[in-house]
Amino acid sequence: CEIGPFRNDPAIDFTIEEAREAFPEAISRLRADMGRTLPLYIGGTEITTDDRIPSTNPANISEVVGEVCQAGVAEIDQAIAAAVQAQKEWGRRPAKERAEIILRAAEIAKERIFDLCAVQVLEVGKQWDQAHADVGEAIDFMEYYARDMLRLDQPRRMGRAPGEINHYMYQPKGVAAVIGPWNFPLAISAGMCSAAIVTGNAVLYKPSSLSSVVGYGLVDIFRDAGVPDGIFNYVPGRSSVMGDHLVTRPEVGVIAFTGSMEVGTHIIETAAKLQPGQDHVKRVIAEMGGKNAIIIDDDAELDEAVVHTLYAAFGFQGQKCSACSRVIVVDSIYDRFVERLVEGARSLKIGPAENPHYNMGPVVDKSQQKKIKEYVEIARKEGAILLEHAAAPELDTDNACFVPMTIVGGITPEHRIAQEEIFGPVLAVMRARDFDQAIEWANSTRYALTGGVFSRSPRHLEQARREFNVGNLYLNRNNVGALVERQAFGGFKLSGIGSKTGGPDYLIQYMDPKVVTENT
Ligand code: GLU
Repeated sequence: CEIGPFRNDPAIDFTIEEAREAFPEAISRLRADMGRTLPLYIGGTEITTDDRIPSTNPANISEVVGEVCQAGVAEIDQAIAAAVQAQKEWGRRPAKERAEIILRAAEIAKERIFDLCAVQVLEVGKQWDQAHADVGEAIDFMEYYARDMLRLDQPRRMGRAPGEINHYMYQPKGVAAVIGPWNFPLAISAGMCSAAIVTGNAVLYKPSSLSSVVGYGLVDIFRDAGVPDGIFNYVPGRSSVMGDHLVTRPEVGVIAFTGSMEVGTHIIETAAKLQPGQDHVKRVIAEMGGKNAIIIDDDAELDEAVVHTLYAAFGFQGQKCSACSRVIVVDSIYDRFVERLVEGARSLKIGPAENPHYNMGPVVDKSQQKKIKEYVEIARKEGAILLEHAAAPELDTDNACFVPMTIVGGITPEHRIAQEEIFGPVLAVMRARDFDQAIEWANSTRYALTGGVFSRSPRHLEQARREFNVGNLYLNRNNVGALVERQAFGGFKLSGIGSKTGGPDYLIQYMDPKVVTENT
């Protein structure tokens, strides 16, 4: 049947009663089936291993969402063998057939959307709307990449020279290792895996150990959609045991990674070294960190600026590489803006994400909680704490991974709080002399991912377009929640290497271009 134009999956509307009821229902269904053992999935077969990691609910760490079998070196080798074998046939299939399977996968995700959301709510502490947006983005990636593969598959004739026909085409690279993050646990994994699969590669997918139950959702989706055995292999594992092994295996041609800058640069370095038996150079696609700023100009619409900044800084507890972690405010509006920002933040409530009464949930685990609390102490030394807003007093916080929502003033670019990615709800407020200094400060980190500007001055907006050096710049709106196609996503500097996800240059990274010239 005809494949229609791409459209983003719509955001959920909680004014509709069924939408509101669907969440607690799906969460109850999940609770009835929680804690089960999740096997690996290699070559179309479920494989259990003795090494298991329990994945727990960050709002109550004694609640186990799933016991996840861990792949070691032997299982990775087994998955590589299955992938190499299966890819030979898959890579030769017509692109349309591959695209149709990925479109079917998107349909299945749509049918299961509330169950997929429920896992995120309990495994990583996503609020209902954020979980729905994540699954919606997973669907969008699959819908978009399937269509984009069909575009790239069109024969492209190059040049007009008589007596010769030149065709520009693409072929899959072979085997892709996909290493996913926990913060957009379905969306980003589904994006990387579906891109690799639709372009004709086989995948070894290593989810984060903090979101491996969400990641397992892809096993069911791809299997039920008809992805052949061996093309999608689910291999969660301890990075210390199998991480480098996966990256260095000579058969792996592409490594798609989303996560921290430290791990990303380690992968780039490790993958660059030629291994015995390796006959190609590995391509690494790495989406890494951010230290993103929103600039508040002196004529900003404050009603909008406050709400959008709060959402960008504290949505999903600030655990987005796109999140706003610095707000740079022009001096003449500083006092008015900051007072309203702090009051706005104070009105938000912190508690388990499964209860929509709360605006901010727990952070993902105890180690992130510890790290963020350490940064709050650094903030206290470097600046002046303007707000340190704790979880609701009625909650049992010992067993949970809550951290205070923190706003710190008096920060300038040389402070660690202005430079290091915290990945939590800690917002630095910086007072800039004027708009020029605000732009200069915004650009003064090693990252260049997202940024926002609130201004009514056309001249300043124009200046920001030219000079604010980020991959995704948002004018008069928040800087999170990029949508597939409309805001193809990704940055530069130490924020990453590779083309934007959900954009027209993304898929070609999983392929090699080839030109065939025929003398006629
Ligand atoms: N694409 C997401 C956004 O625009 C951020 C992705 C990430 O945190 O890795 O908010």
